[in-house]
Amino acid sequence: MEKASGMISVVTCTDPRFNVSVIIQLEKLFGQRAFSHTPAGSVKEIIEYRGNLRKHNPLSNQYGFGVRRLAFVAHEDCAAYGGSGAWKSFEEEHRHQIGELRAARLRFLDAFPDAEIFLYFAHLDRTTGELSFLEEISPE
Ligand SMILES: [Zn+2]
Repeated sequence: MEKASGMISVVTCTDPRFNVSVIIQLEKLFGQRAFSHTPAGSVKEIIEYRGNLRKHNPLSNQYGFGVRRLAFVAHEDCAAYGGSGAWKSFEEEHRHQIGELRAARLRFLDAFPDAEIFLYFAHLDRTTGELSFLEEISPE
């Protein structure tokens, strides 16, 4: 089987407001084909996963296929965190989700030290109702 090392795995949320445009944006940015893995709450699953992430499906399977580059995408108004209403302000929500992205990156690197992980926060586009605007988040 052909290795998928030229591909990027995108970890988003099950939220239906995620549009395929997010995948297309990342494909353009990286010049690579992208495919998505969508657990509820995006990186929350990586942070809260009990046990060895190397045994987690499908993340570990993607490794089996040679994928080493991942984009983690957290988002505004995520139901897994109680939505935007769970926060006092957007700034508080934003800060928390950046912390989640960074924590998930470290946890993932613990299990897969050769992974290359990029972090994004998706803003809700008030005109289209989609989670389509990606803000790049620095790893630290
Ligand atoms: Zn969500």
